[in-house]
Amino acid sequence: MIPSVSFRVRRRLLPIALLAVGWVLANTGFAALANHWFEDFKQQASPEDLYRFLYNMPKGGDLHNHLSGSGLPEWWYEAALNSAKKGYRYYTKVRIDNCRAYENRDADYSLLFRNIQESSWRQLSSCEQGEHKLLQNLTPAERQAWLHSIELDKRSEGRDEFFGKHWQRLNHLFRNPYITNEILLLNMQTFSDEGLIYLETQSNSHGFLKPDGSLFDPNQVAALYREQLKHPDAVATGMVVRLQNAVLRFLPGALEETKLLYEFSAKNPDLYVALNLVGIESNTKGNPMHFLDTFRQLRRKYDLPLSIHAGESDGPNPHVRDTLLAGAERIGHGLNLIGDPETMRLMQFGQRMIEINLISNLLLEYVKDYSEHPFPEYLRTGIPVALATDDRGMWNSNMTDEFYVAVVEYNLSWQEILKLSRNSLAYAFLPESVKQGLLDRYNANIASFETAFSQGGLRQAARKKPVRYQFICRYYDLCEKPR
Ligand SMILES: [Zn+2]
Repeated sequence: MIPSVSFRVRRRLLPIALLAVGWVLANTGFAALANHWFEDFKQQASPEDLYRFLYNMPKGGDLHNHLSGSGLPEWWYEAALNSAKKGYRYYTKVRIDNCRAYENRDADYSLLFRNIQESSWRQLSSCEQGEHKLLQNLTPAERQAWLHSIELDKRSEGRDEFFGKHWQRLNHLFRNPYITNEILLLNMQTFSDEGLIYLETQSNSHGFLKPDGSLFDPNQVAALYREQLKHPDAVATGMVVRLQNAVLRFLPGALEETKLLYEFSAKNPDLYVALNLVGIESNTKGNPMHFLDTFRQLRRKYDLPLSIHAGESDGPNPHVRDTLLAGAERIGHGLNLIGDPETMRLMQFGQRMIEINLISNLLLEYVKDYSEHPFPEYLRTGIPVALATDDRGMWNSNMTDEFYVAVVEYNLSWQEILKLSRNSLAYAFLPESVKQGLLDRYNANIASFETAFSQGGLRQAARKKPVRYQFICRYYDLCEKPR
């Protein structure tokens, strides 16, 4: 029963009730009214116009990016040739002359377009040397095939090609710190062009090779990253950049590698802000629980955030739950969290976020199509999420493509777009003051974009011609040139 309220009390309650109605309108009704323009725009815009809008739209950060997977094939080719200035020359395998007896052939031997630096080429038999060509001597047809060899450009290619061939082909190229820094700068420039202001990329400090084949001191590598980030071309992008060290989780020695990279990162916090575990989780050594004791030992001495790939698997397993127990503040992919209701409930309105990689999950066949992806369920049930590009060089895509897919496949509202962008900064592993500075910048950028759109529509708000890559052409028919 509702207790009756005297007239006097009701009169006193009236202003409060009006205030409450005002609050509700301000936070729902007015916001919805204020954003109806985006719903109208989505309905009326051609695919080209929607893409142009999203390309020009200010964005936040990319929190899940593998630097060695983020280079477009042409970038790798140019950067490899440019590194001749630093004394490097690269050979790539262009034919197989059966130089090795059958029992001595491993998967790498049979892999065309596997790249090696000159110091390794010199150690091969003359027969095997003859199976290789200097990168700069490739014929135009070989060069095209080389470019395609490090890109998932055929629908028949998927997870096996990606995990089993792409990285093995790049091989020594991503162990050259000068090439890596060139790929970093190109990412900063192209991300800045599409409105991003932050990049947190996975790029290791250890394992880089000098031209003679010896290893770089990781402190020298860190110094090269710092130098690159201070270069005027990098500063001109306005991008803030931080790195994560990443451990290939299933390899023998992964626990030792975890200790080494965790300590190095913790001692270089201006550059390295987190540690990640990468690679297929299904192997028992890749299991998150395998790392729990090691992380607990390390936390006795250091405090380093963890962002860990988890739930990038087909079947149900407790990997997201176990990865949270291992201390991860952010989860990469989190696809199969959808099959773990207890952990889902824990993450709703919580402090741990999921980095969503829509294009990656489709191309690596973790979803058959976007009707299977759990992203909208996470987004709309209060699990913190942000969009990220993962290995965009190998998908030949950009951040705009991730937003385009999300808007087209899941009908994102304007408020949801803002939330995704703000999350991509709010969950960055940055000191609070730097993070707040980025959020302020984003808020100012998006406010002037909204004003420009309200005053002059697409023509005024979206002046830049979008740069479109191959993914959006192949999958959404938005091609740079008409096909
Ligand atoms: Zn990843």
